[in-house]
Amino acid sequence: MIKFLDNKLFRYLSVFLFLNSSILPVKSSSALAAWAINTNGVLELRTKSNTNLKAYFQKANQISGDRFWVDFPGELKNPRTIKGNGPIKEIRLGKPDKGKTRLVIEFKEETYLKPLTWQMVGLDQNRWSIKLFNSKYSFKKIGEGLVEKKRGNNKANQNVIHYKKNNYGYLKLPEVKRNKFEVVIDPGHGGPDPGAIGIGGIRETDVVLEVSKIVKNLLSEKGVKVRLTRTNEVDLDLPPRVSMANNTDADIFVSIHANASRGKRRDINGLETFYYRGWRGRLLAKRIQKQILRVSPGSPDRGVKQGRFYVIKNTRMPAVLIEIGFLTGRLDARRLEKITHRKRLAYAIAKGILEYLDKVG
Ligand SMILES: [Zn+2]
Repeated sequence: MIKFLDNKLFRYLSVFLFLNSSILPVKSSSALAAWAINTNGVLELRTKSNTNLKAYFQKANQISGDRFWVDFPGELKNPRTIKGNGPIKEIRLGKPDKGKTRLVIEFKEETYLKPLTWQMVGLDQNRWSIKLFNSKYSFKKIGEGLVEKKRGNNKANQNVIHYKKNNYGYLKLPEVKRNKFEVVIDPGHGGPDPGAIGIGGIRETDVVLEVSKIVKNLLSEKGVKVRLTRTNEVDLDLPPRVSMANNTDADIFVSIHANASRGKRRDINGLETFYYRGWRGRLLAKRIQKQILRVSPGSPDRGVKQGRFYVIKNTRMPAVLIEIGFLTGRLDARRLEKITHRKRLAYAIAKGILEYLDKVG
C-alpha cells in the first residue's frame, strides 16, 4: 500500500508501506545532517536543501520488530546503533548500499503504531518531520546534530554553515596504536559539591560527568586505556584525584569542568583550556581547545592558558583542565543542556587527545 500526499503549503513525503514485501528502489539526492526523536513521538530530520526523501515502514517479522526507515543519498561514514527507550528498541544508522545512508528506527514489540496515517512533512527546504508514536508513551529524546533552524546574525550563520560542512567530519576520530596509551579523565566536582550552578539550575557536576563518560567510551573504542577519577556522584577531594593519577602509568591527565561567571552574567560565554607546565601540556591543551571550539560555533575562544589549578599542578604527567563553556552564559548554557552538544564536546575532547597521543606517542 502506498500513500502519497501533496499540497502547496507543504511538500509531503510518501510513506511506503511494505507488509513483508520487497523494497522499491530508492531515489533521493542529499545526505542526512541531523536527526532527533522528540518526547512527543515526532522524528525530525535535517538534510541538505531540496532533498527528495523516501521513507518506508515494515511490519515485524521473525528477525526484527516493526521498523521505519528513511534512505538518504551520500554515504554514511560511521555506521552505528543507538539504544532506544520507551517504545523504541533501537536506532541504526547504516549504509545499505555504497553511497547511501539509512536511518532505521526499530520499535519494541507491542508498540501501537498507525503507519497508514503517517505523513512526512517538509517544514522548509532542509527540515522534515513525521509523527511516529503517541505522546502517551514515555520517551526520552534521542538525536544527533542540530535539527532546529538557525537564527542570528551573519557571523553566527557562517559559523553554522562551517559546522554543517563538518557535521560528519568531527565524528571521525584519528586512529592511534592500540593498547599503548593510558589516560586519566577527571570529571570535576561531584557529590555534595555540584560545582557551578547555571541557568535553570544546570549543574556542572552532571554535565562534566556525562561528557567524561562519553570521552572514556570513545577513547576505549580506539584501544586507549581510560580511568575516570569518579564514575558517579561522589565527594572526591583534589588530592586523591592526583594520587590516583600519579599511581598509574597514565600518559596524560585531563580534568573536565564547566564555568560560571561572577554575578552570573549571561553575556559571558566561551571555552578555555589550562595547562600548568611543559610543552606537552601546552600542546595537549592546544589540540583540545581547537577541537572544542569547532563544535561550539559563536562561543568565544578564551584561549589556552597557564593555570595553577591543584590537579594540573600536582600531577606528574602532562595535564590539562578544560572549561567546556559557561553554565551561566546564555549561549553556552542552552547548548550544555543538550545531550547532542555534550556528545559533540566529548568527540572534540577525544579527538584532541588522540591527535596529541598520535603526535607525541
Ligand atoms: Zn569546576
